[in-house]
Amino acid sequence: MQKFNYHSHTYRCKHAELDMKDEEYIQEYIKMKFEKIAFTDHCPEKNEIDKRTNMRMKYTEKNEYLNSIKKLKEKYADKIEIEVGYEAEYLPGEEANLMELKNETDKIILGQHFIYDNNNKLKIFGKEDFTDEELIRYAEYIEKAMELNIPNIIAHPDIYMLRRKDFGEIESKVANIICKAAEKYNIPLEINLNNVFSKTYYENRILNNAPIEEQKEKLINIAYPCKGFWEIVTKYNIKVLYGIDAHRRGQILLWNELVELANEILGKETIEKLNFIEK
Ligand SMILES: [Zn+2]
Ligand SMILES: [Zn+2]
Repeated sequence: MQKFNYHSHTYRCKHAELDMKDEEYIQEYIKMKFEKIAFTDHCPEKNEIDKRTNMRMKYTEKNEYLNSIKKLKEKYADKIEIEVGYEAEYLPGEEANLMELKNETDKIILGQHFIYDNNNKLKIFGKEDFTDEELIRYAEYIEKAMELNIPNIIAHPDIYMLRRKDFGEIESKVANIICKAAEKYNIPLEINLNNVFSKTYYENRILNNAPIEEQKEKLINIAYPCKGFWEIVTKYNIKVLYGIDAHRRGQILLWNELVELANEILGKETIEKLNFIEK
């Protein structure tokens, strides 16, 4: 079982547990015997492009965040290895700012939550339907980001399945563009566990402890992880890893169950063919 996780948020993004301190996340990871973690909170934007007020830290909060994690890294050095970084989106024009964030930290995970539409407006997954053309652009943004050496990991590459019913021709095409680039640039893809958490143990935004067999029944029609996407991943020489994408108190403690549920979605045959990274 994977004992590292590089996808973890903090209260600063304003949609994670607001009264949960950075240290509490670490304590949950230690309880679960994790060996290495990275805080990758939603990145601040030097140019404020994403206008939503509950999505990311302010640029002025950046140093406080980096200092807080640095202090904890030292405090817990004999118990767990701690890195700091960001979850960021690629946008044309923001290359220099993204590289600056990368150079100041250990890791950038690319969580491509939006793209520009044809009118240069942000088009956000989950909020609106994407046209086929826009889905292809999503894949091309990820490809571009990898080409520019921005991300170390691609978070939830299959997030584009939100509001898509079937994994058909266009969805396969998107997957193949992403996979081809991930193979070429040797960037791992993340099987994201946060959507599984929201649909099961955190259904209706309240923690429940229903048995796992009952949780499995809630996974019908889940958008991601998407079985069709990960079947395509197995056809390439790509590294993969799980990412818990922690936002809530108690979420990390459910790691084993969430991995089991994700494996249930993807199926044993696919899981066995995937090339999981060691660290
Ligand atoms: Zn988030
Ligand atoms: Zn995240």
